[in-house]
Amino acid sequence: MEPALIDPFMRAVTYLRVSVTDRCDFRCVYCMSENMKFLPKKELLSLEELDRMCSAFIGLGVTKLRITGGEPLVRRGIMTFFQTMKRHLDSGALKELTLTTNGSQLEKYAEELVACGVKRINVSLDTLDEEKFAGITRWGRLPQVLRGIEAAQAAGMRVKLNAVAVKGFNEDELFTLQEFCAKKGMDLTFIEVMPMGEDMSEAARLGQYWSLKDLRDTLETRFSTTDLSESTGGPAHYIRINETGQKIGLIQPLSHNFCESCNRVRITCIGEIYTCLGQEGHMDLRPALRDNPGSDAPLIAAIHTAIGSKPKGHDFDYSRKRTDGQMSRHMSHTGG
Ligand code: SAM
Ligand code: SF4
Repeated sequence: MEPALIDPFMRAVTYLRVSVTDRCDFRCVYCMSENMKFLPKKELLSLEELDRMCSAFIGLGVTKLRITGGEPLVRRGIMTFFQTMKRHLDSGALKELTLTTNGSQLEKYAEELVACGVKRINVSLDTLDEEKFAGITRWGRLPQVLRGIEAAQAAGMRVKLNAVAVKGFNEDELFTLQEFCAKKGMDLTFIEVMPMGEDMSEAARLGQYWSLKDLRDTLETRFSTTDLSESTGGPAHYIRINETGQKIGLIQPLSHNFCESCNRVRITCIGEIYTCLGQEGHMDLRPALRDNPGSDAPLIAAIHTAIGSKPKGHDFDYSRKRTDGQMSRHMSHTGG
């Protein structure tokens, strides 16, 4: 048995998020530029390499695996990957296999995902207005996503909606989104816009920032809320709406530091490990994987080295009205 992954701050790493592609069928304004240049396909980890990478982490004590991107469900052959990962659920080594998706392909894949052991998924949806949806995603179509959500629920998956809180864009839909989720029995999480990617001016980013503290204040003009102490191993802080019993998650990387309990690391679609979403520091695991097709020992050693340098926390900070801690890479690179 390999020793578990413990970082220098004594945090056990048990949650792995893997980006399986940098491509996407949407171009959300806060995530991608309109003319994204994608990586050459040969740079991407193959499905077999993704399997080896994830299996190595599971062997090192990772119990939760989240597949993301880009849009994970546009990666060719991705269902083969989910099918092979199921063996780790069957063995009990993996407790949860899940994904974050824009929902566009769910109508097609919901049943297959359930057959692969996926029980819960996160669907990203910022607005229920067709025109606004087309605007913020540039290429997306709302009815397709809504059908995807229906299909996921009909197949038996629990769906959680993730909405990025964007000032002047979906502030007026707070109660519409909350009611939609209450009706459909879905949890709802709001995410503060993070400063990712270089193509947006600083002024535009600061303009987009809608603090979740303000969002909660607005919620409390209609409802009373209670803080919940539970944690799902993710960065969200949960509150309950007392009148509806609904649970609302708040992910506040900018105004609320959640690094003390961080249990996760990220792998990009080309096999780099980022041990902190908010730091540029990373290590390339691909040579250890590609140069040693017959042995995982070098990969395992490289993973231990990377975890040994996991930083204490991130540096995002808008408090001085500058986008301090801004990083040049796009969210689709590390997979949100
Ligand atoms: N395509 C999938 C989706 O949209 O769910 C998975 C990848 S996407 C990069 C993962 C999450 O990151 C989405 O919920 C998206 O809204 C969020 N995201 C992207 N850019 C962001 C940003 N600049 N700040 C905060 N969240 C962002
Ligand atoms: Fe694609 Fe998701 Fe980024 Fe939107 S947030 S462009 S759906 S990867």
